[in-house]
Amino acid sequence: MSKAIQWSLAGLWLGGSCMLSAAELSPHTEHEAHEHGHATLNIAVEGTSLLLELKVPAADIVGFEHAPHTAAQKQQLDAALTTLHQADNLVDLEKSAGCQLQQVKVQHHLDGKASTAHGDIEASYAYSCQSPEDLNAITLTLFKHFASLQDIDYQIMAQSHQGAGELSPENPQVELQK
Ligand SMILES: [Zn+2]
Repeated sequence: MSKAIQWSLAGLWLGGSCMLSAAELSPHTEHEAHEHGHATLNIAVEGTSLLLELKVPAADIVGFEHAPHTAAQKQQLDAALTTLHQADNLVDLEKSAGCQLQQVKVQHHLDGKASTAHGDIEASYAYSCQSPEDLNAITLTLFKHFASLQDIDYQIMAQSHQGAGELSPENPQVELQK
């Protein structure tokens, strides 16, 4: 499969919108520029599994995007990563769905970077839900913890539907259609 076809498929998956920036289309996605204040979220629902993958500019999580230089910066980074590990602080799932957190992964890319480079923090949360049919909505509460975060572009892939949209502090809920 050619690169061009792969990318056009990726575009389709994203809803064919203009969400792909020129930087994201380059093969060097590791160093892609992002816009501060804007995060992305992938939501996948399959059977009893729910997977959330969040990617946020480190500037909105820790306030800087380079490797921590001082003890204070190291402490700031550790505190932010700890907050991101506590999924209950960030995501609100309806209790009746019986979703249990199975795995959390938080990764940052702030090591050995020039101070001018951008850096992201990626966090993924894997749940197993007893009654996934009772999951009507997912509410993102992480806006309360990271004040500079303005919006999150989300994409959802579920058996019944696919969709995309934007979440904000005023509108933090993803509806899961039946
Ligand atoms: Zn940045």
